[in-house]
Amino acid sequence: PCRLLDSPPVSRIQIDGATKRFGAVTAVDEVTLDVSHGDFLVLLGPSGCGKSTLLRMIAGLAPPTSGRISLDGRDITHTPPRDRDLAMVFQSYALYPHLTVARNIGFPLRARGRAKSAIAGKVAEVAAVLGLDELLDRRPRELSGGQRQRVALGRALVRDPGAFLMDEPLSNLDAKLRTATRAELTDLHRALGSTFVYVTHDQVEAMTMATRIALVNRGRLEQVGTPEQVYDEPASVFVAGFLGSPPMNLVDATLVARDGELHVQAPDVAVPLGIAGDLPARDVVLGIRPEHLKPGGSLVRGVVRVVENLGSEEVAHLLVGDARVCLRGPRPLGLAAGDAVGLTCAPEHVHLFDRTSGRRLV
Ligand code: ATP
Repeated sequence: PCRLLDSPPVSRIQIDGATKRFGAVTAVDEVTLDVSHGDFLVLLGPSGCGKSTLLRMIAGLAPPTSGRISLDGRDITHTPPRDRDLAMVFQSYALYPHLTVARNIGFPLRARGRAKSAIAGKVAEVAAVLGLDELLDRRPRELSGGQRQRVALGRALVRDPGAFLMDEPLSNLDAKLRTATRAELTDLHRALGSTFVYVTHDQVEAMTMATRIALVNRGRLEQVGTPEQVYDEPASVFVAGFLGSPPMNLVDATLVARDGELHVQAPDVAVPLGIAGDLPARDVVLGIRPEHLKPGGSLVRGVVRVVENLGSEEVAHLLVGDARVCLRGPRPLGLAAGDAVGLTCAPEHVHLFDRTSGRRLV
């Protein structure tokens, strides 16, 4: 029987006020995060935001400057990486070029001095799970990028770790293979039930695979939630502008109460919110996702600059006041460059953020 699939050890990782400084740079700033048993947690953020450093802290490769990390309630802040029961999968795969696939996968067990027969059995199990059975005698240079990536995963799997830590493992694959491998990883996570912590700057990877997404900005957590939560109710302008393709339209506006109801106003924008006015007039950022703007109506007025054909959909780029605004919808949208158009949006799809703090209001 495949112990991998029978009773995988599943770990809970708790990060408590963890900070990592490199000289004057604070790469990770007071992060507190609880990764539950069986979570597929994706750390998502732009280049340099500190997500890799956070993962390396969990792995034990970058000791925190302050704060605490625990695994299943046990403080591992100062535990060496090899004693953490975590497996790390790197972007570069870090395979041994002179070893066969079988020996690459079995390497962690040999390093632990396991018996030959036990290693062979375990390697065979893992190879079966990952569809590598036919490739066990090849060397890394005789494999495709996707196959190498699976060998790297196999080397992590063979240890039955309590959790998998992955740093952009798909970034060396071409677009088609990346899509296929995404689905494979989701499948693998479901089959194993293990805890995954996965670093990426790719919002599609995060949205498609995560059970929860943690958005990282300048070393801090902006929001942690399910893909639906962070997409539908972004907690800040940063999150709103990071997710979505094209991302949410964000326009500086003013919130005003009129006739007891709230309205958002900006040049060429006048959106009634349909809620009783209990927020004081103030400077806000108005957010509307491209798919929630519809041609017709007169809440937003703009001029079409470009219409892009994506196959099943079109994206229109408009100028509204002096703001650039995108609209996405099924093809054909019926818009053409140069058109002056009115747009509408249902009140429930309007997002408001405080202009100063960037935090969500409605
Ligand atoms: P990327 O997606 O580009 O890898 P990231 O979000 O993973 O970015 P980190 O690699 O965690 O970001 O880096 C966060 C910050 O810490 C950056 O400003 C980086 O330059 C800095 N940093 C990371 N490692 C070191 C180091 N060993 N020495 C000095 N500064 C570092």
